[in-house]
Amino acid sequence: MTTALTAATARATVYGYPRQGPRRELKKAIEGYWQGRVSADELRAVAADLRRATWRHLADAGVHEVPTGDFSYYDHVLDTSVMVGAIPARHRAAVEAGTSPSGGCSLDGYFAMARGTQDVAPLEMTKWFDTNYHYLVPELGPGTVFRADSAQQVAELKEALALGHTARPVLVGPVTYLLLAKPAPGVAADFQPLTLLDRLLPVYAEVLADLRAAGAEWVQLDEPALVQDRSPAELNAAARSYRALGTLADRPKILVASYFDRLGEALPVLAKAPVEGLGLDFTGPAAANLDDLAAVGGLPGKRLVAGVVDGRNVWIDDLEKSLATLGTLLGLADRVDVAASCSLAHVPLDAAAERDLDPQVARWLAFARQKAGEIVTLARGLAQGTDTIAAELAANRAALASRAGSALTRDPAVRARAAAVADTDGRRSQPYPRRAAVQRAHLGLPLLPTTTIGSFPQTTALRTARADLRAGRIDTAAYEKRVEAEIREVVSFQEEAGIDVLVHGEPERNDMVQYFAEQLTGYLATRHGWVRSYGTRYVRPPILAGDVSRPGPMTVRWTAYAQSLTPRPVKGMLTGPVTMLAWSFVRDDQPLAETARQVALALRDEVGDLEAAGTPVIQVDEPALRETLPLRAAGRGAYLAWATEAFRLATSGVRPDTQIHTHMCYAEFGDVVQAIDDLDADVISLEAARSHMQVARELAAHGYPRAAGPGVYDIHSPRVPGTGEVAALLREGLEAIPAERLWVNPDCGLKTRTWPEVRAALGNLVAAAREVRSSL
Ligand code: GLN
Ligand code: ZN
Repeated sequence: MTTALTAATARATVYGYPRQGPRRELKKAIEGYWQGRVSADELRAVAADLRRATWRHLADAGVHEVPTGDFSYYDHVLDTSVMVGAIPARHRAAVEAGTSPSGGCSLDGYFAMARGTQDVAPLEMTKWFDTNYHYLVPELGPGTVFRADSAQQVAELKEALALGHTARPVLVGPVTYLLLAKPAPGVAADFQPLTLLDRLLPVYAEVLADLRAAGAEWVQLDEPALVQDRSPAELNAAARSYRALGTLADRPKILVASYFDRLGEALPVLAKAPVEGLGLDFTGPAAANLDDLAAVGGLPGKRLVAGVVDGRNVWIDDLEKSLATLGTLLGLADRVDVAASCSLAHVPLDAAAERDLDPQVARWLAFARQKAGEIVTLARGLAQGTDTIAAELAANRAALASRAGSALTRDPAVRARAAAVADTDGRRSQPYPRRAAVQRAHLGLPLLPTTTIGSFPQTTALRTARADLRAGRIDTAAYEKRVEAEIREVVSFQEEAGIDVLVHGEPERNDMVQYFAEQLTGYLATRHGWVRSYGTRYVRPPILAGDVSRPGPMTVRWTAYAQSLTPRPVKGMLTGPVTMLAWSFVRDDQPLAETARQVALALRDEVGDLEAAGTPVIQVDEPALRETLPLRAAGRGAYLAWATEAFRLATSGVRPDTQIHTHMCYAEFGDVVQAIDDLDADVISLEAARSHMQVARELAAHGYPRAAGPGVYDIHSPRVPGTGEVAALLREGLEAIPAERLWVNPDCGLKTRTWPEVRAALGNLVAAAREVRSSL
């Protein structure tokens, strides 16, 4: 296939790149600095080396324009707060205490905002759109005074230019910055940070002028918040911003970048703005940008940066499909450049480092390094004709064919079973009131039964045992003995403490998703596939590559062992289908709903085996149900339909007397309360301690008909709640939920807490439950 259309100017670029280094050098240097082992100068040198290596690598690979400003010691939104001088009052002393060589914020002040100090709380952290990255939420109020501090941005740009690169600073745009902010402590909760726009724009103008003076031809302003549903006032704010910045006399060319979804109503706004370029995502649901762009008449006179390579998943691109998209786009803009849909920081660094993977499977994978290569190939094909990339296209076609035809991606037995699922498979055999009655008789629990969410403290001894097993220092039998010893301790503690429904404590689990991924067919594990979750924390998400099946029971042995030790009911513990998808890289060759259904069927078998082994209560955790909610309301109904169906499919095969629990750890769940109801779980536990049982009132307002355990112990804090405090929370809970349906439990699992804290806190929790029970 040859494309007649070519664009001699097509260039390759990226918005951002993993910054940790091949051996996570940055994490080690920063943590070393915190512990006093690494000096500030040493840390800065490690950072500069990593930036240099990244630019060099990208340029050598053929990327024409490299990003600057995407590097960060902790978080790029925090960097933006520093850039605009939005330092919270409580951190000002720390920030001003030292100076950085570039004249900007001091390192210690910066880390104080990110992590807090003994006396001062850090900024709140929350999820960056629907990714698994977390940013630090800016705190703003009517009194906020912005002040430009472009030192960091200018220094990085100069670094790249001095090395001979064509570089483009990448900043969080002003509208997105304000839309991601929240009212500072002490400011009215209904304060809208967007009202500060007129004060913020002059600061951006100053930064743009500084970058221009430092040699920037282009500056990229990221506005991912504009891919969400936006009010006319918010769209108007975007129009005003880019009119103001676009009409500045002294400025670099401006590229406004969007990603994670289509721009929708914001597209005509930005297309009309007096800026020189627009970045659009053309992957997944954002592919709708193509038609939308044609509908607004394209971007005459502008540069379009086309995000055709999926920047947030790990699969090789379909190069011919992307070339076809790019070919269409050539008719819609003055100049078309090629990029990934978003920053490549959302994927691991290098698939070539995964030497343990079957090479047949490894060639389906593209991490950041491989994606940069794909972008370069596409730009070359676009600029010089597809003949010049014939070899790459042939290799790509072969790899795609191998994936499509592989036994891993197509297991006929799994497909036949998923296709045969009937409506009744997703429904319990009895309605809740009937189930509740038989469960009451079967379990014999008191009113306000006590339980925990699953995990108990993960001790050093346990982690050592796991490391020993991996390194071959102990064998499986020895490891299992250690796990059993831990279970004995957890069970006897719970019996002594007087807990009603026990757990085995999850000592065998490294992670609630990875543990299952390692045992299910269809999942791949990586060795070096680290992705930044926040700050210096990295996770290694498993890759859901093929059809999912369960070769054998995954948890039964541990749960049954725990049950064999006690006459009290033990609760089995599984991770739900949505969470199994949300915290993994998912396949892009079939709808998520189908993948979820396969996982659900595998879990259904595990639920069945647990029940057959005598487990009277089974909990299926779905903490990710809300975080995977599509960014735009239009996609939410369909998502919630398959998500809740998958949960029911996993849990509905049990007898009426088997009690199904679920757990979610967030306090604000207003958008999903109907979906929570649709799960039809017998009992749900939720985080509630900090919000004083707010979820209990919201459940009641919704008319939630089943049992609930709003958390009465905040497990995110080392603080041990007193009996009176827990009892007071329970009484608040009772005002919303009747005693017959109220459970008593912590907010979440206890794995991050210490044993002394857990002993004391659960002792108080049981005492509070008894006290309130006796007053009923
Ligand atoms: N069962 C898990 C635990 O207790 C739940 C964790 C979670 O909700 N994130 O650790
Ligand atoms: Zn939780």
